Amino acid sequence: MPTAIATQVTRSTRLTEKLREEATFGEVFSDHILIADYRNGEWTPPELVPFGPLPLSPAACALHYGQSIFEGFKAHRTIDGSLALFRPADNHARLNRTAARLAMPPVPASLFLDGITELVRLDREWTPRREGSALYIRPLYFATDEALVVRPSKSYRFIVMTCPGSPYFSEPVRLIAEEHFVRAFPGGTGDVKPSGNYAGSLLAAQRAQASGFQNVLWLDALEHRFVEEAGVMNVVFVIAGAAVTPPLSGTILPGVTRDSILTLLRDMGVRVEERPIPIDAIVAAHDDGTLTEAFGVGTAATVAPISKIRYRDRDLSFETDPERSLGARVRSLLEAIRTGRAEDKHGWLVRV
Ligand SMILES: *Cc1c(COP(=O)(O)O)cnc(C)c1O
Repeated sequence: MPTAIATQVTRSTRLTEKLREEATFGEVFSDHILIADYRNGEWTPPELVPFGPLPLSPAACALHYGQSIFEGFKAHRTIDGSLALFRPADNHARLNRTAARLAMPPVPASLFLDGITELVRLDREWTPRREGSALYIRPLYFATDEALVVRPSKSYRFIVMTCPGSPYFSEPVRLIAEEHFVRAFPGGTGDVKPSGNYAGSLLAAQRAQASGFQNVLWLDALEHRFVEEAGVMNVVFVIAGAAVTPPLSGTILPGVTRDSILTLLRDMGVRVEERPIPIDAIVAAHDDGTLTEAFGVGTAATVAPISKIRYRDRDLSFETDPERSLGARVRSLLEAIRTGRAEDKHGWLVRV
């Protein structure tokens, strides 16, 4: 059992059924946060406190030099009435890989896993009840030294907040293959999840949106030739019946959803190929009819069908059957596991 964490319970909950069931994603927060500080080489005991503004020095070095990391995953209601975290240890491991890359100390497993378990228990009533909804969990980890000298901070803050996440049924997504901006490059930070990766990608997405698309299809930095990711999601193509996705070669974010979806596709008997995918091969496979489907995978949408990819003067269109497509079928299998309707063979659920 996790040790009890010092808790300051809010005097008046903000929870209403309307907020819980109808909140726009990421704009409404549950009553409490988990908070712990790192200073003088050790972690302070974590606390659960009401959600609210935090005092922060204008010199806090996360604001200046970007030592800041976030993570994201979900807790789902299961059919036996309990709540289960989905693969939290994988997000903890990724947080610490990002931390190592940004010269930040690791967050202990007990702080992350026990702390989040206690937080979710405390605010469990914020989990929406509708089918397909979840409690979204957002860990945040950033540097707090008050100093403008450029060096790794000596003090840090770890916070976890949660939000009600209504069922997310992704509309088919339209993407432009991006030949100017890049998301990641060899030796960079594309295979981890610092906040700054997102800052660097916003302009490309904004320009794609101005052209009537939702986001960009990222290409590799060196040749602008190999497909890497679909906006902030990993990308999967169905070519001649096989699920094909770029390998984790240093510029791809190792998504927990990517790993879950590839695992389930293999379980379903689908051939999975992790290999470099030239954009020309996508065009050719589209034209000869072997490319039947494309989808993005990530925590927010789980599976987001891709209906169109623009590459230079070509607009490639794809089928997005909401029931029969491979993406839809693997998505509903993952959903069934998360809610306890299908056997959790891989041990992904952690009951709260
Ligand atoms: C977070 C993220 C993903 C998805 O990761 P999940 O663990 O599946 O949510 C994919 N690509 C990028 C660039 C990301 O930042």
